[in-house]
Amino acid sequence: MFCVECGTEGPIYKNGVCLKCYLKGTRFSKGPVILDITTCPRCDAYKFKSTWIRESFHEALQRHLKTSFTVDPELGNPRFQADCKEQDRMLSCLISISGTVGGQAVVEQHPLTVRLKNITCDVCSREAGGYYEAILQIRADQRIFTPEELEALETKVDTLVKNAQKDKRSVYITDYEIKREGLDFFLSDKGVAQTIARRLQEQYGGEFKQSASNVGMKDSRQLYRVTYLVRLPRYQPGDFLLYQRTPMRVRSIRGNKAHLQSLATWEDSTVDAKSLQQASPISDSVRRKEMIVVSQTSSEVQLMDPDSYRIMTIPKPKKHTFSKEKTTVVRINDLDYLLPEKD
Ligand SMILES: [Zn+2]
Ligand SMILES: [Zn+2]
Repeated sequence: MFCVECGTEGPIYKNGVCLKCYLKGTRFSKGPVILDITTCPRCDAYKFKSTWIRESFHEALQRHLKTSFTVDPELGNPRFQADCKEQDRMLSCLISISGTVGGQAVVEQHPLTVRLKNITCDVCSREAGGYYEAILQIRADQRIFTPEELEALETKVDTLVKNAQKDKRSVYITDYEIKREGLDFFLSDKGVAQTIARRLQEQYGGEFKQSASNVGMKDSRQLYRVTYLVRLPRYQPGDFLLYQRTPMRVRSIRGNKAHLQSLATWEDSTVDAKSLQQASPISDSVRRKEMIVVSQTSSEVQLMDPDSYRIMTIPKPKKHTFSKEKTTVVRINDLDYLLPEKD
């Protein structure tokens, strides 16, 4: 067979012409020369149809290209590639659409001007209006937070909110207050506020309470604002306390369980975290001192005070080898206690 276009003898692809001539005379893609993309200047979300999506410009552009360009189904595995140069709020792009026809690679190029339009998105408009659904309050039982704790809690909440934003764009912190007694976060989403409160309680222990207040009507519906309160325990890991008149060290508190270690026997026990309310703090009367390990047997250790060079011998509560040069001795009411080297 001869191609009616070029006269070459060979297989005919379509309409009497060979593949080479067919590709030469056919355009497989078509699109606009100007494309408007709406973006939010506050959060960099891009609008697609009527939905705002938080994604990169590249992802937003791909999404728009796929719907604004028409590609002939004859072009197999079509792929869009954009090469853009930014100038002001405009981008001049060269769009390459590639695919295969009759086993032959085809690339078609389209110059495209992308105009970026700034519109504040729904979420940012609400955020700017100070909208919030819930207050997350973090307090501590019978004590105030240290600056380090406040910082750690703030970072923790921030991270949890950022993670929640990945699934739900409308989640944000409207405002927050750091007070002497704790932290208040004003959050745009009740469900997320509750989840965060629960997570904090699981991690640090303590109690969780929720209360709702009626804040008026909107669209003939009652509006409620919920306050989630997490009260972290009075004690923290590492604290010393008298529990049932026994000096104990707090090893950890998780949810409603507290893990304690007796200073005298090094026995561990798990108690209901609530029962710690009956314990008394002794941290103020605890004196910690680093002592030099002079010698040890399986049952006792000989230590030297580095300041007075006084030597003392303390029985080991359990089989334990002190491997470091120094170890900490805790003195409570004139009694000396050893601490195990590691937990
Ligand atoms: Zn031909
Ligand atoms: Zn926005």
